[in-house]
Formats: sequence, C-alpha cells, structure tokens
Amino acid sequence: MLDINDLHKTYGDNHVLKGVSLSVRKGELVSIIGPSGSGKSTLLRCCNRMEHASSGQILVEGQDINAADAKLDKLRQRIGMVFQAFNLYPHLSVRDNVTLALRKVKKIPRAQANEIAERALTRVGMAHKADAYPGQLSGGQQQRVGIARSIALEPAIILFDEPTSALDPEMVDGVLQVMRELRETGITMVVVTHEMAFARAASDSVVFMDGGVVVEAGTPDELFGAPKHARTTAFLSRLG
Ligand code: ATP
Ligand code: MG
Repeated sequence: MLDINDLHKTYGDNHVLKGVSLSVRKGELVSIIGPSGSGKSTLLRCCNRMEHASSGQILVEGQDINAADAKLDKLRQRIGMVFQAFNLYPHLSVRDNVTLALRKVKKIPRAQANEIAERALTRVGMAHKADAYPGQLSGGQQQRVGIARSIALEPAIILFDEPTSALDPEMVDGVLQVMRELRETGITMVVVTHEMAFARAASDSVVFMDGGVVVEAGTPDELFGAPKHARTTAFLSRLG
C-alpha cells in the first residue's frame, strides 16, 4: 500500500530525514512515535507532496508519488491528511466543509456530495451537526469533522499528524475512538502520535523515529514490551 525507500530530506544544511524506509500494508494502522524534531511530520508531509523529498522513493499502491506526471489533486484524494489544527473553513457549514473537495475536485454534483458527506459524518458521530459552523463546535468535534472530510474522498490511506495534540484532554478519547472504529472498517492509516496507550492498543505496528531515522519498528508488544535499542528504551522511560 505505502512503501517508503531510503527517503532523505534536507532543509539547507539540516539533514532532517536520513534514509527512512517503511512499509504499510493495506488495512494496517501504523503509529509513528519519537521525540520532537525527529522528522515525523516531515515524513508525512513528503508522503502527500507538501514537501518534496531530496532523494528516495515513495510508492502508494505501487505508484511513485514523486513521478513528474503525478497530479497533486489526484494524489491528495488518494492520500488523505488530518492535521493537529483542524483547518476547517470557518465560513462554511460542517456539511459544506466535507463536500467542498468532493464538488470542486471530484466534480460530484451537490446532492450526491451531500449524501456522501452524510455517510462520512455518521461514521464519526457528527451527522447531527451538519448545519453547524466550525466555530460552534468543540475542538474534538471539529477534528472529527476533519476526519469525515478526509474519509469522504475515499483515500487509499490517511496520514494523521498528532490529531489529538491540540485538544483539551476530555476531547481526546472521542477522536481516538473514531480512529479505532475507522481501523475496524479497514482504512489504512499512519498516525504520528504522543498517545502511547493508543499506539500500543490500536496499532498493527509501531515505528520509533529519532534523529531522522527509523531506530526500531515492530509490533506494539515488541516495541513497548521489549525494545531492542537503548534510544527506544530511553524515549519510553522519559514518558514515565
Ligand atoms: P514534533 O514532535 O515536534 O512535531 P517532528 O518529529 O514532527 O517534531 P519535524 O517537524 O519533522 O519533527 O521537524 C524535523 C526537523 O526539520 C526539525 O529540525 C525542524 O526544524 C526541521 N524543519 C521542519 N520543517 C522545516 C521547514 N519547513 N524548513 C526548515 N526546517 C524545517
Ligand atoms: Mg511534528
């Protein structure tokens, strides 16, 4: 589904990704953990071409996303992204936030787009707020709308960059629950997260990044229960 081979990214003389390789199979949920500055966000941003990798390869369903003829609009339909800040349009209703890309990018007629939005909002428990505006919702509700907007496009994979980091603590569980439910429906997900309990319980595999490399990857039990590398042990023990 997603194959990253020897990815490098430099900003000036800052070598941020130093040869990252990673494979995600269809239907898997892979969590990426690691200290601040280790390159987690940069890795995700390279995967949907918000950043251009300096070298290396990213294949999504076997297609090289850095190929010269890869169309960004099409690419971002197949590779969804959910950010820490929800990035909803404040002047659009929840429904219109979800249908915007369906109508403008996928050229789906409004009535049909509304039906797709209704289904996506139902999946995240937000159908009852379709007529509300983002400013009328809690952070957790806004993030669930952000997730609905992403799944409405039926991407091959969704990349989450710390989807709960900006939320009040009492909002975190609702969003994580939605993500667990999405996993059950077979959506492929890569989740950068500081929520270790979620990473341990909900992931098929966990990747620990530090200093621009994948230090260690394995099942949650392997990584949390029996880490092989001193850097992994040190990171996990700092979390307490
Ligand atoms: P955090 O947990 O704090 O979100 P992260 O693992 O996501 O950290 P990145 O945001 O990928 O880390 O940043 C990795 C490194 O790349 C940092 O040294 C950062 O300063 C640098 N970096 C990220 N984006 C840019 C940019 N647009 N221009 C220059 N340097 C950048
Ligand atoms: Mg980050």
